[in-house]
Amino acid sequence: MKFPIYLDYAATTPVDVRVAEKMMKYLTISGIFGNPSSSSHVYGWKAYEAVSSARNNIASFFGVCPEDIIFTSGATESNNLAIKGIVYAYQSRGKHIITSMTEHKSVLNTFYYLKKLGFLVTFLFPGRDGLISLESLKKEIRYDTILVSLIHANNETGVIQDVEMFGKFCRSKGIFFHVDATQSVGKLSINLMKLPIDLMSFNSHKVYGPKGVGGLFIRKKYKIHIKAQIHGGGQEYGIRSGTLPVHQIVGMGEAYRILHEEMKIEVHRFKYLKHYLLNGLQKITKISVNGTLKNSISTLLNVAFHNINSSILILELHDIAVSPSSACVSSTYESSYVLHSMGCNNDTINSSVRFSLGRFTTFEEIKFSLYKIKSAIFRLRDSNML
Ligand code: PMP
Repeated sequence: MKFPIYLDYAATTPVDVRVAEKMMKYLTISGIFGNPSSSSHVYGWKAYEAVSSARNNIASFFGVCPEDIIFTSGATESNNLAIKGIVYAYQSRGKHIITSMTEHKSVLNTFYYLKKLGFLVTFLFPGRDGLISLESLKKEIRYDTILVSLIHANNETGVIQDVEMFGKFCRSKGIFFHVDATQSVGKLSINLMKLPIDLMSFNSHKVYGPKGVGGLFIRKKYKIHIKAQIHGGGQEYGIRSGTLPVHQIVGMGEAYRILHEEMKIEVHRFKYLKHYLLNGLQKITKISVNGTLKNSISTLLNVAFHNINSSILILELHDIAVSPSSACVSSTYESSYVLHSMGCNNDTINSSVRFSLGRFTTFEEIKFSLYKIKSAIFRLRDSNML
């Protein structure tokens, strides 16, 4: 079977060969397979060293102390832990929490769950460009607001929220600020030494590391305490118990080390490829881009091919692997709540396709994809399958 061209890097990325090779050394009897909590022998010491080195790589990528990073099973867990961890720890101060309608489901559904438990939740709506305004946040702040949680770059549109502006405002009000940076890592520079962010979620599988591992940044300098959601052996400073998956963590550490070295050049290349793709698509009539292009990550383009159902278009595009919207949404066959919250009409929502590029995307692949997309559109617009 010939695999199609992969243009769905926002769903997941392949593991970089350098990462996979490193991970292999932390699995078998001939490698370092110990439990990092085993403090009585060299197997444990070596595993502990490997975890520390990975933690250092990630911390230095974000410009923070290693103690501020804890490992989780992925960004879904990090988002749950950050939000529930804060609200359970600080509910005596207030029960009001704020997020946006464009969040990933791991944030949205955590908020819906907390609402059922009696927390007061507010969902901010973006403008047609996908951006949340500071004014809309200011209007919703109350004396009992304890947390604001916002996505950095959206997984469907790539739109970037101004987390510095929101963070400054939250800090001035003494409100905790959590950011879901899962899609922005590796595309935007994130210096947590400067950014006023208290907690930040991220993972490994969007940046050429393995699936099933992620991290949460918690700014310990401000003595932020979060309530553990998993209890057990007290690993990760007691915040997240469970034996650490050393090979996964080593892989994630290596993925971040590579990003640290190569991100600048890589992003340059992404910008060029996205620009070429956009230019080519703009030659097709009746298309529009969802979300502002001015504030969007270099790897993602969400395009509506008006009057064409995106599911039919994707079937027609069997040489290219793309998503009608985010992977997590498409598995449940819902239409995009993100585009809906931006005020897009049904035609736009039903005709939108997400293209996402990555490390292994080539210029030839984009050229070939454009040719295939154009032919598919002409075929569909020529037929009755609109
Ligand atoms: N947040 C965003 C913005 C995402 O795109 C994703 C993955 N689709 C997640 C959270 C969840 O990440 P994970 O797969 O590591 O649980």
